[in-house]
Amino acid sequence: MIVDVLGRRFRNLRVSLTAACNYACTYCVPDGKRLQAAAMELSSDEMVKAIRLLIESAGIEKLRITGGEPLLSPKFDEVLPRVMDLGLDDVSLTTNGQLLPRKAELIKASGLERINVSLDTLDADRFRAIARSGDLATVLQGIELMLDAGLRVKVNMVPIKTANVDQVLPMLEYCLDRRIELRFIELMNMGYLKHDNAYTRDFFGMEEILELIGSSYEYARTDAPFDSTSVRYEIPGRGVFGIIANESEPFCASCTRLRLSSNGYLYGCLSNTARHDIKDVLAMPDDLARKELQGRLLNALGDKQTASFTGETTVMKFIGG
Ligand code: SAM
Repeated sequence: MIVDVLGRRFRNLRVSLTAACNYACTYCVPDGKRLQAAAMELSSDEMVKAIRLLIESAGIEKLRITGGEPLLSPKFDEVLPRVMDLGLDDVSLTTNGQLLPRKAELIKASGLERINVSLDTLDADRFRAIARSGDLATVLQGIELMLDAGLRVKVNMVPIKTANVDQVLPMLEYCLDRRIELRFIELMNMGYLKHDNAYTRDFFGMEEILELIGSSYEYARTDAPFDSTSVRYEIPGRGVFGIIANESEPFCASCTRLRLSSNGYLYGCLSNTARHDIKDVLAMPDDLARKELQGRLLNALGDKQTASFTGETTVMKFIGG
């Protein structure tokens, strides 16, 4: 097992099935742009082999399938059941939910137990203004189908000062009513936001979120797993919510995440553009591939920041958050 001087190792793998997305969220892509699939995306076989080898070589225990938008990928229907057979206890999926009603049966049949749905508002017009596509009612229907199927659902919301801060309390109430854990993701200074004043204008951080919630609810900080990115709070008698406080409470020092892009690159850190091509490894027999991966994993681990996001940030579409 590869461990660095801070005791960090890769435990948690996030796989981007495709870089393509059916949304064009204002904080993810500039106006008029849309995320396209990467050139030369891995095939289903390559993707499953990469995941299996990374489980064996890096000691991965948790896997998240993400994107782009994973449900948009033609590989999704084949990759999900095959990944569920790899023997991991903890597999989850992050999706914008737009295609959930269409994929609900397949997801149910796969045995997946956890799903995260990204949703920034409960207002249909605002939804279209932020996602610049899609339909709110379809996402809400998808969430109900997942709850009915017995999956544990979390909802991810990015509070944006000029767009949806008045939705923080309605979103929290919607989630508490359904025993869904709502997680607020602090806006990350990534991609095109790095070169745009929208980041400073729109950042709505942990302190502001807690102050807003405190105006209507009593809450107390509660335990979270040691390598969790989310700070968790309990509202007694109602449920829990979390804040992924990338800026306010950086979690780099305990980060165990490894990312695999849809075109076969490993990324050790969101705050680092360094990437490690493993496509050649996927053509090797298993023994040799595992040996070869050790060097790439060591390099990827060395890409991690020590305390906070201080490096060049890569673009979310490549690596799925
Ligand atoms: N399409 C899938 C989805 O919507 O969940 C997976 C990929 S998306 C990049 C993963 C998450 O990253 C979403 O919850 C999205 O809101 C979030 N995200 C994208 N850009 C972000 C940014 N600049 N800051 C914070 N979160 C961001």
